[in-house]
Amino acid sequence: MNATKTICTNCVMDTTDSAITFDARGVCDHCNTFYTQVQPHWHTGERGKAELDRMVETIQKAGKGKDYDCIIGMSGGIDSSYLVHAAKEVMGLRPLVFHVDAGWNSHIAVNNIERLVDGLGPDLFTEVIDWEEMRTCSAPSSARVCRISTRRRTTPFSRSCTNSPPRTESSTF
Ligand SMILES: [Zn+2]
Repeated sequence: MNATKTICTNCVMDTTDSAITFDARGVCDHCNTFYTQVQPHWHTGERGKAELDRMVETIQKAGKGKDYDCIIGMSGGIDSSYLVHAAKEVMGLRPLVFHVDAGWNSHIAVNNIERLVDGLGPDLFTEVIDWEEMRTCSAPSSARVCRISTRRRTTPFSRSCTNSPPRTESSTF
């Protein structure tokens, strides 16, 4: 059974995170890291907007004459989906969207990727991990270093979210 569970006095994190620590006030290390290392550098107002605008300008200059300004990893979850939207529609960047299909994609994630790519039009590059090799490497008894075979595909994105999507090229790393 579970021993005593301690919950941060400032957030919802608890001792199900085996590495969590708490200060004398019961505030967790995640909260303290945010307040001491993130918040002082996080400018959400005009200052942050000006910094972001400068970064976008630098990225666009570096991308001039190239196919893409940047590369964005996309899982199909809300964070990366919004990032692709913001980069393309708000910042005016030309991203290459990069997705790793390790066989764990949910239908919702696949649908999100498909809708974003279809709706916004960025190129999508998907690295498909060989599912059988991935399973072998994920097994608890597997202590060896795994070499995973991959397959690559580019847009248009397949509607399927099986472990054997269309494959156009193969490589091993
Ligand atoms: Zn906390």
